[in-house]
Amino acid sequence: MIEQLRGLKDRALAQIDEAADLEALTQLNVSILGRKGELTATLRGMGSLSPEERPVVGQVANEVKTAINDAIEARTSALSGAEQQLKFAREAVDVTRPGRAPFTANLHPLTQVVRELLDIFTGLGFDIAEGREVENEYYNFEALNIPADHPARDMQDTFYVAPGTVLRTHTSPVQVRVMEQTTPPVCVVAPGKVYRHDSDVTHSPMFHQVEGLMIDEGITFADLKGVLHSFIHSYYGPQTGIRFRPSFFPFTEPSAEVDIQCVFCKGAGCRVCGRTGWLEILGSGMVDPAVFGCVGYDPEKVQGFAFGLGVERIAMLKYGIDDIRLFFENDLRFLKHFG
Ligand SMILES: [Zn+2]
Repeated sequence: MIEQLRGLKDRALAQIDEAADLEALTQLNVSILGRKGELTATLRGMGSLSPEERPVVGQVANEVKTAINDAIEARTSALSGAEQQLKFAREAVDVTRPGRAPFTANLHPLTQVVRELLDIFTGLGFDIAEGREVENEYYNFEALNIPADHPARDMQDTFYVAPGTVLRTHTSPVQVRVMEQTTPPVCVVAPGKVYRHDSDVTHSPMFHQVEGLMIDEGITFADLKGVLHSFIHSYYGPQTGIRFRPSFFPFTEPSAEVDIQCVFCKGAGCRVCGRTGWLEILGSGMVDPAVFGCVGYDPEKVQGFAFGLGVERIAMLKYGIDDIRLFFENDLRFLKHFG
């Protein structure tokens, strides 16, 4: 019986040692020391022992019970210490870590570019004028020297809202409305949305223009060049090369397109500039006397110039974006780049 008790003790101590958690220990406590446990069951055999043997076996039984109890207690405190540590580790707060910044939205890249452009032109003395996006054909075409049979109407694919009413194809009708209401001098820029039936990686059916108009006595092409040089050098940097190329627009004469030195290859020639080293960024010219006739200005007395640029194109060149549709998909991953 003493052998049995010692064997029980050895097994019990080994099991207690291996117990993985407090739950396992509780079960061991019940299965060994409990009322229906192994030790209790073994001690039931004491009844058959002789009176001399009983105290000896009883003492061993007490030792075994104490040893097991002590082992369970020791293991319990070790395990609860470890669990406490784990809990602390899980719930630890590192107060030295930087905080999580709240999400802040930013202006759409096109809004940012429009504001930068307007900043520059208002700094040069221009006022801001706005017009309607739904225009009648007169302001969009006729008053700008583009009669119905004029081949220039084929240059732009127009959205018609109703017969005689269009979504404006350019911001130029704003010029006409401003001139109708103003006695020279006139010095305005007109930003806004325009619409053309056109869609691919560099064209969108809706896009933005910024148009400029300056009229006074004695305005010459030199004034146009001066204003555009100032604008380009403030927006693209003072070292940017500029060239004027003769062109044609129905509402200006003479007309010129303006190129800047390629901002990607610095004029050496690359894929974006088609190996020419130059990028076209705007159209311009001296206001055609026929336009002055429509608004009641005397072309013998006043002269002026106009220019217009596409905001998306300027933004694409500034940020190296090769697909105009990115501006309108409203993918936050794209928009967040411009914060
Ligand atoms: Zn280039």
